[in-house]
Amino acid sequence: MAEPEQRAGSTGSSTPITDAAVARRGSAIAELFAPVAGFGVTFSNMFRPMVTEQYPFVKHPTQPRYHGRHQLNRYADGLEKCIGCELCAWACPADAIFVEAGENTPDEQFSPGERYGRVYEINYLRCIFCALCIEACPTRALTMTNEYELAGPTREGLIFTKDELLAPLREGMLAAPHPMVEGTTDRDYYAGDVTAPTPSQVAWVERERPEDPSLPAAVKAAGAAPAGSAGASSAKGRD
Ligand code: SF4
Ligand code: SF4
Repeated sequence: MAEPEQRAGSTGSSTPITDAAVARRGSAIAELFAPVAGFGVTFSNMFRPMVTEQYPFVKHPTQPRYHGRHQLNRYADGLEKCIGCELCAWACPADAIFVEAGENTPDEQFSPGERYGRVYEINYLRCIFCALCIEACPTRALTMTNEYELAGPTREGLIFTKDELLAPLREGMLAAPHPMVEGTTDRDYYAGDVTAPTPSQVAWVERERPEDPSLPAAVKAAGAAPAGSAGASSAKGRD
């Protein structure tokens, strides 16, 4: 067995000072001063400005890219961006999203193209806010807001349904269902060529749902839209 290493600078006495002995002495000193060091942290913080958050009375804005509650977005004419493709549900590592698509029909067109998200649910008991679903969405239908107040008294209440996730109608949008802008395809919508409802969409809703509360603002928006903005792409022969 190897002899214990004698430290350089030892006095040459008969008892060598080993590394283990030095470590024992160091830990004994650390133990002696540990309570004082703890109080030192306390005292140094007593003279700092108070940083207690007065939540929920004072709410500070989050960082702009904070991952909060999801939102299902709409196009400028009010049609929904979700096409019920389920890519978000497949991308979700926590299996928190449930989507069931429905067929758009001439009488009930909710989104451009063939299908729309008829059932859409996100289970916030499972969601880890990783945003992989956002990355997977091909139409930018799904984004995340900065809203973080997602506590609730029941488990059922934390399964958000489509009506809770769908973006509210902005001023001038026409509530779905209604036909697409005349002469356009879903690609024109993806390209951002639809900027407001058109008079013919407004006329359709006036005929089918004369009491629709979104009509007055949509009438104004349809009248104010620059000529050739909505649906202009088809007139230009976009493929
Ligand atoms: S943020 Fe992540 S965990 Fe939450 S629903 Fe999207 S993919 Fe699933
Ligand atoms: S939110 Fe996007 S990815 Fe999910 S079903 Fe709708 S269109 Fe597809």
